[in-house]
Amino acid sequence: MKKEVSREERYSRQLLLKEWDQEKLEKSCVLVVGLGALGSVVALNLAMMGVGKLILVDFDTVELSNLSKQLLYREEDLGKPKAEIAAKRLHEINSEIEVVALDKDVRKINKSYFEESHVVVDGLDTFEVRRWLNSMCVDLAKPLVHGGFYGWYGNVQVVIPFKTACLECQPLIPPEKLQKMCTPPGNIRKRLRPENEEKIPTVASIATVIGGIQSQEVLKILLEIPNILENYVFYDGISQTLTKLRLEKNPECVVCSDKYRIKGVEYILEKQETIRQLKNRLIMSYGLAKPDIIVRDKMILDENVKISDLGLKTGDLIFVNDERLAKPLKLKVKIM
Ligand SMILES: [Zn+2]
Repeated sequence: MKKEVSREERYSRQLLLKEWDQEKLEKSCVLVVGLGALGSVVALNLAMMGVGKLILVDFDTVELSNLSKQLLYREEDLGKPKAEIAAKRLHEINSEIEVVALDKDVRKINKSYFEESHVVVDGLDTFEVRRWLNSMCVDLAKPLVHGGFYGWYGNVQVVIPFKTACLECQPLIPPEKLQKMCTPPGNIRKRLRPENEEKIPTVASIATVIGGIQSQEVLKILLEIPNILENYVFYDGISQTLTKLRLEKNPECVVCSDKYRIKGVEYILEKQETIRQLKNRLIMSYGLAKPDIIVRDKMILDENVKISDLGLKTGDLIFVNDERLAKPLKLKVKIM
């Protein structure tokens, strides 16, 4: 009884909203990937609002530079795992929710964590893992709320698999400097290697705005409030403007289009080309890291093998595996 009374009191102000459904939130589960500046804001908001279960994934430890913008950490936490500290702090604020801390690379966690979640939050700071996450969410049809920020700017994109554009549909690949955290509008199809690590300017106030918008989008999905952000917003903290864009689904998208999932994307192979040359082309075409080529269930290990040696004909399917994809890429080959 006492718990019921405190619950009413704890959530009394949000319960005044006619769209609010506390029980629905209590039965919800959100997977927060990356507990840096954005992930901290989102996880904190969701915990305060009483989302029943939060799964926090991050394999980083708390560093001094994090304390200027990641609001769940304290000086005493330096060197400790972010996911565990974040879970502890959230539990101190709201002991009535369940918080699971996974001190792991998201690519290594059990798939069941994705399956039980209603929404996935992207608070990552590396582009390659983000692409993997997008691919995984599309594969499992889980809504993904992506956020990024750089300097005085930030952006949010909501991916409702197969309904709205995924992160790969219109590759908002940022100029080199923006690569790490922010994906500003533009349609530059330019794939950059993640190795070009560079420190980028970030500030707590922008992270709070972007994390706040992400939290609001998660909330709307959980409460089934229509008018899901359609589907990209860009925030300029200097002029205080929010620009909304509608990103269209790409019928050729290698992650979410039917072509890719069902039929396979058509890809031209030249008879004289070696596997090594093909791999390099795939890196350029799809921004892959280290593609593996699979022909008739066998991985082609010898990179000097020529396409003409593989006995492929136009219309055959080959598969390409890569650490940036949650599922192999299906290609329908056209031999030239
Ligand atoms: Zn797509």
